[in-house]
Amino acid sequence: MRRRFLETSMAVACPFCGEVDEVPIDEGGGATQTYIEDCPTCCKPRSVHFDAREDEPHMYLDRES
Ligand SMILES: [Zn+2]
Repeated sequence: MRRRFLETSMAVACPFCGEVDEVPIDEGGGATQTYIEDCPTCCKPRSVHFDAREDEPHMYLDRES
């Protein structure tokens, strides 16, 4: 049985301050998503990349320059 991802958020570390944060996933936003979100700890803008095209969806954060 193939598991759909049930998580509505994933824990990822901030690329600026290293603080691990739960980033919400917009499940209606498609298989790949990229958006800018400010870190709640250090307030710096970071780009959130989300990819659910594979069996295990993954997310990572980049510094937005
Ligand atoms: Zn931060």
